[in-house]
Amino acid sequence: MSSISSVTLLGSGVLGGQIAWHSAFKGKNVVVYDIAEDALTHCREAHQQYAAIYAGSLGASETDIAATHGRLTFTTDIADAVRGADLVIEAVPEIPDVKTVVFKEIADLLPEHTLVATNSSTLLPSTFAEATGRPEKFCALHFGNGIWAMNFAEIMAHALTARSTLTQITEFAIEIGMMPIPVRKEQNGYVVNTWTLALSNAAQTLVTNGISTPEDVDRSFMKFGFPIGPFGMLDQVNMKTAFDILAYWGEVRDDRQMTANAQWIKENLIDKGRHGAQSGAGYYTWPEPAFMAPDFLAIPDISKVPEIVSLLLPS
Ligand code: NAD
Repeated sequence: MSSISSVTLLGSGVLGGQIAWHSAFKGKNVVVYDIAEDALTHCREAHQQYAAIYAGSLGASETDIAATHGRLTFTTDIADAVRGADLVIEAVPEIPDVKTVVFKEIADLLPEHTLVATNSSTLLPSTFAEATGRPEKFCALHFGNGIWAMNFAEIMAHALTARSTLTQITEFAIEIGMMPIPVRKEQNGYVVNTWTLALSNAAQTLVTNGISTPEDVDRSFMKFGFPIGPFGMLDQVNMKTAFDILAYWGEVRDDRQMTANAQWIKENLIDKGRHGAQSGAGYYTWPEPAFMAPDFLAIPDISKVPEIVSLLLPS
């Protein structure tokens, strides 16, 4: 059993909020920290939604839900947030400079024994090891969106991570019901985001370049038997994180198509207030997105042929 009983989440957005809720549900005491008070308010609202999901899908009792709420505290004071932590999990935006500043901020505030992990989707732990001031106690611990169902945790060391840190982190992951996925060498994107980034970028390229629509790309994907397509998934990631990832990697890899894809997301979604599923709209309108409608994969009526053919001809 790990010695991790108190966990602090830095960042209370989509993933920080989910990791916090799930860890508390599994019996950990959790402090949620964010720079913005209104982000903590959104996080509490999201926790009400998760409570309904855990009661409905996971059979959580009213007592379980009340105990989960009871193990969660929220603060905008970073010193208070990390003072009693056995493990700090960073889940601030996917922007290297923002993460570096946060790691430097907590370095002198942490108790000696505290472990630190990054939930970064695509960045390497070696990038931040020095900023933490405790490289041997630091690694990546990456969770999936929809943590209650996507219950895997990718664990990735950097050159100086101690074996004891990896032991504690892996035990923690198992204790909170995650399937550990050890990533044997540092890899941007771990296992999961190596293929999801390629998939999302390919799907978005089809839309950016006017080849297809989010609905048709998702239809073609779901016909393989998947319950959701790349755009349904991207909506759940949230548009800001999708933008940050595509913009950053577009620049690093000098990949113009990826940069154009990031720009498309900004102009067509973010700038129009469509921030993804949690905001009520992204590519789809939530909470009942079109791809969940019973007729989404139905063969169209033959009367639709002129409409379909007009899409095949230059306008
Ligand atoms: P988000 O935008 O939903 O949340 C980020 C939160 O960090 C916001 O509440 C913001 O107020 C807060 N924040 C910003 N600067 C801060 C600072 N200096 N100190 C503390 N809080 C700060 O982002 P997200 O989607 O939850 O992503 C967070 C991290 O998790 C990223 O590294 C992302 O790549 C990773 N991740 C995201 C997903 C996903 O599906 N969204 C999945 C796995 C991992």
